[in-house]
Amino acid sequence: MRRYQLEETLRRLLARGRTIPVIEYMAEANSHYYATRDPFGASGDFTTAPEISQMFGELIGLWLADLWLRSGRPRDAQYVELGPGRGTLAADAIRAMKGAGFAPDVHFVETSPALRKAQVERVPGAIWHDDLSTLPDEGPLLIVANEFFDALPVRQLDVLGRELKVTVENGRFVRKGEVETETSPASLAVAADLARRVARQGGAALIVDYGYEGPSRGDTLQAVFRHAYADPFEAPGERDLTAHVGFTALAAAAEGVRISGPVPQGAWLDAMGLPVRAAALARAAPARTEEIEAARHRLSAPSQMGRLFKVLAFSAPGWAEPAGF
Ligand code: SAH
Repeated sequence: MRRYQLEETLRRLLARGRTIPVIEYMAEANSHYYATRDPFGASGDFTTAPEISQMFGELIGLWLADLWLRSGRPRDAQYVELGPGRGTLAADAIRAMKGAGFAPDVHFVETSPALRKAQVERVPGAIWHDDLSTLPDEGPLLIVANEFFDALPVRQLDVLGRELKVTVENGRFVRKGEVETETSPASLAVAADLARRVARQGGAALIVDYGYEGPSRGDTLQAVFRHAYADPFEAPGERDLTAHVGFTALAAAAEGVRISGPVPQGAWLDAMGLPVRAAALARAAPARTEEIEAARHRLSAPSQMGRLFKVLAFSAPGWAEPAGF
């Protein structure tokens, strides 16, 4: 789809007081956004943890390999990643798992053609899925989702439980009403499906994202454009729309699995050995010491990604207790 075509379509659709729910606005905007670009890095709109440093994906790979080793090394275990972005996390995790003697098949759930292209370059042997329904039904699954759930659409309700809607007024997109609560039905459905699969097939799921514990905190819908916050109701489909992840709700949607966390990302990375890994990398490449230390800080300091980002795991009842929690 051509750039800005979604905006034109929505303007026509929402003329003369017509409305769509916020959840549909967000879903349409994001599917256009991800389908038409690679949004990551300095020249894009935002930077994610695996794009900051190889250490992030490596520690996730070690977490998966460790769990697999202590759970009897099942031969048919498979790596699954939801929304793999550029494939950077997967490439780093796969390298680390291989070092630990674990070389699983790789499955990616990804809807964006632009990002699938980037992923095939980094992880040529992967198998792609449009959604979770076609993932393997047999064999343990070791599932990773980093900054996936924040991209799933949210429903916003006012104090009377009425769904908030978007319309066009005086040429601008506007949301009508005051947000009291926010839910993400798609996120809850994905969490429930992941838990059902892990409970039945074995394995674990590691969910990393920014978000909160406890009940809804109201409006968390935000837009990011060229590394700065922007108006979510401007230029739909041209900026990244996200909402904070409600971790308590995700955990409550998961049945039949052991729940670990959520814990702050900084605490989890430190428990997984981030300082040790950073020191080893700096020893191997002394000229990069400052850059490695800056990346470590950005990933784990509470003022950076260390506290807002959280880590939640589901694991199969028969499997070993996950590390890092
Ligand atoms: N995990 C990556 C990318 C995060 S961005 C990283 O950490 O860098 C969100 C990712 O989820 C993108 O790959 C995007 O294309 C994908 N995505 C967003 N909505 C999706 C959906 N409904 N189904 C499948 N993939 C989706």
